[in-house]
Amino acid sequence: MKFSELIGQEPAIGLIKNSIARNRLAHAYLFAGPDGVGKKTCAQIMARTLNCMAGEAEPCDACRSCTKEFHPDIHLIKPKGASLRIEQIRELQNSVAYKPYEGKWKIYILEDADKLTEAAANSLLKTLEEPPPVTVFILITSKIEKALSTIRSRCQQINFSPIGEEKILGFLERHYPDAEIEKRELAATLAEGSIGRAASFLEDEDAFGRVEEIREIYRIIGQDDLAPFTIAEKWKERKEELGDFFQILTLLYRQSLWQNIEGTKEKLASINSALVAIGKTEAALARNANVQLALEQLLLTLAKEREENA
Ligand SMILES: [Zn+2]
Repeated sequence: MKFSELIGQEPAIGLIKNSIARNRLAHAYLFAGPDGVGKKTCAQIMARTLNCMAGEAEPCDACRSCTKEFHPDIHLIKPKGASLRIEQIRELQNSVAYKPYEGKWKIYILEDADKLTEAAANSLLKTLEEPPPVTVFILITSKIEKALSTIRSRCQQINFSPIGEEKILGFLERHYPDAEIEKRELAATLAEGSIGRAASFLEDEDAFGRVEEIREIYRIIGQDDLAPFTIAEKWKERKEELGDFFQILTLLYRQSLWQNIEGTKEKLASINSALVAIGKTEAALARNANVQLALEQLLLTLAKEREENA
C-alpha cells in the first residue's frame, strides 16, 4: 500500500512525506486520532518508505525491502493483554543497541501507546531522551488524553482526523462492490469517520439484523407499557452490543431531529432531551452502572417523552 491510497489524511501525510523528503525526521512521532482512520497503516507505509531501496517519496512495492513480509528492521509492538509492559520496552531497548540488519532505518511502531504502564513509559522515556542513531519510533494512540505528557513532549505529534462520510462511502463502493447500496450507506453513516468501523460493519453478518432490531425498539417506544422491562431484560446479557445499541438509537433520534427541524419548540426540546438521556445512560454504563436498571430507566424516560409529544 502507498500513502496515495490512504483516504482523508492529506495534512498528516503531507507532514510525513515532507520530513522524509527533506531528510528531517523526528526521532519519535505520536500518531493521534480516532480508531480506524489509518494511523497504523500510515506508520507501516512510512516504515517501508524509509527502507525502500528506490529512495522515493512512496514505497516502490518492488524492491527487496518492500516485498518482504516481515522486515527485520521494522518492529510492531502491541499491548500484551491490557497494557504495554516494561518487559516489552526492555526488549526494545536491547534491540535498539544494534545496527539495522539490512535496512537504512530501524523503525519501532508502538500500538496503543496510551496503554504503556507507568514503569514502561518511564523506561521508554529514557530511550526517547537519548535517541539512538538511524532509529525512528512511531507511537500510535486513539486516546491522546491518556498518553503521558512526558512521552508526548518527546514526540512530534501528527494528528489524524475522522474521515468524511462521502469519502467512506467511496471507499466502500470500491472495496465492497457486491454489498447492497443500503448497507453501504448505513455503514458509512454509522462509521462516525472510521473506515475500519465501516468495513467491520459490512463484514459482520449480524450487524444489519441488529440495526433492524433497534429500529423496531425505536418504533415501539411509548406504545407498550411492558416493553422497557422486556427490552432491558433482553439487552442486559448483550454487553458487547450495547455500543451499537446506543449509537443506532442516537442516530434515529438525530434523524428525527432533522425531520422535525420545522416543528414546534417543544417537540425539538423533547427530542433533544431524549438524546441527552441516551448520552447520560451510556456514560453511566461506562462507569459500570447496572445495565438492566439503566436501560429500564432510559426506555421509560424515552416512552414518557414520546407520549407527551405524540
Ligand atoms: Zn522499495
